Amino acid sequence: MAIERTLSIIKPDATKRNLTGKINAKFEEAGLTIVAQKRIQLSKAQAGTFYAVHKERPFYDELCEFMASAPVVVQVLEGEGAIAKNREVMGATNPADAEPGTIRAEFAESVGENSVHGSDAPETAAEEIAFFFAGLEIVG
Ligand code: GDP
Repeated sequence: MAIERTLSIIKPDATKRNLTGKINAKFEEAGLTIVAQKRIQLSKAQAGTFYAVHKERPFYDELCEFMASAPVVVQVLEGEGAIAKNREVMGATNPADAEPGTIRAEFAESVGENSVHGSDAPETAAEEIAFFFAGLEIVG
C-alpha cells in the first residue's frame, strides 16, 4: 500500500479535556507518524469554510460554533494507507457506534463533539492539508 498523508484535527472537546497526548499515542501506536502539528484557535468563519461541504446539513451552524469554541490541534499524519488507517483509529462518527478501542469510543462525548476529524479520501486530504499547512511546515 502507498504511503499517504491525511489531515487530522483534535477537536475542542478533546483539547479542553487535555487529551492531545492520549490521542496522539493512538495514532502512533497504529503506525501513523505525526509529520506536522500546531494548536490554533479557529474563528467561526474559518470553521465554516473548512466544513463548507456540510453547509446544507441541519447541524452546520452548531458544528461551526463548536469548532470555534476552544483551540484545536491540526496535524498531518503519514503512513501506509494513512487515510483509511486514521479513519479506523478514529472510529464511527457517533461514539455509540464506534468500535471498542477507537478514539471516539474512548473519548468522544457525542455525535457532534466527537474528539477528532480525519480526511475521507485522497482529494480531500490534499485540500485539507493545504488549508492549514504550508509545504515547509510538513517534515516527513
Ligand atoms: P466524520 O467524517 O466521521 O467526521 O463525519 P461527517 O463528515 O458525517 O460529519 C462531520 C462532523 O459533523 C462530525 O464529525 C461531527 O462533528 C458533525 N456531525 C455529524 N453528524 C452530526 C449530527 O447529527 N449532529 C451534530 N451536532 N453534529 C454532527
